[in-house]
Amino acid sequence: MVNKWIELALSGVYAPVCVLCGTAGQSGLDLCLGCRADLPRIARPCPRCGLPLPDTSNPGTPCGTCQQIGPQYDRCWAPFAYSGPIPYLITGLKFRSRLAFARLLGELLVDALRHSRVRYPELLLPVPLHRSRLRERGYNQALEVGRHIAKRIQIPLAARACIRTRHTAPQVGLDRTLRHRNMRGAFALTERLPVRHVALIDDVVSTGSTVEEVARTLKAAGIARVDVWAVARATLDRF
Ligand SMILES: [Zn+2]
Ligand SMILES: [Zn+2]
Repeated sequence: MVNKWIELALSGVYAPVCVLCGTAGQSGLDLCLGCRADLPRIARPCPRCGLPLPDTSNPGTPCGTCQQIGPQYDRCWAPFAYSGPIPYLITGLKFRSRLAFARLLGELLVDALRHSRVRYPELLLPVPLHRSRLRERGYNQALEVGRHIAKRIQIPLAARACIRTRHTAPQVGLDRTLRHRNMRGAFALTERLPVRHVALIDDVVSTGSTVEEVARTLKAAGIARVDVWAVARATLDRF
């Protein structure tokens, strides 16, 4: 009997409990149906940067900023806005060692993916942390979310193909030009990637300058298409 329980515990079979309200979870997720339905989905995202478009705009048309200066990546896709309970889940994973949130966030992203028309890449690449930050935190939250996505959609994940060579100052408060200058050359590839289409994985995209710089690095290395998949898209004023 004891062995049976140990077996069950190790296999991860347990009764899921909603991490937001404490009632029973649904479909093996630590989230109840009500809390899940209340998550702030971005109904009308810009097809380039993923930020919400105004209700009056044409859904297929990029936002004004993307029409003027398109980002380095091809498409940033994020199902949720950085509001409601999303910051609690993301900061829990990032700053409070709630590693179980990686599976929950990954699963929410996969579920949204399956209801979307997003093109699948050949390879997933988590946005890397600088080794000093990695030492401090003990894990890379983007890699943890990415591992779960990779397993669920059966696409390989290159955990160490891209590294962050420089620790960069916080981006908030800088204008676009300064942010880009700040990030220049902050990433490098450690191996040649024999693919044409990559999706970068991140927990949340805010200014976009980090993923833009990784995308620039990948494109310079000959990758034809670089998408970004993030759990949430934040506008700067909400971050
Ligand atoms: Zn709940
Ligand atoms: Zn846009």
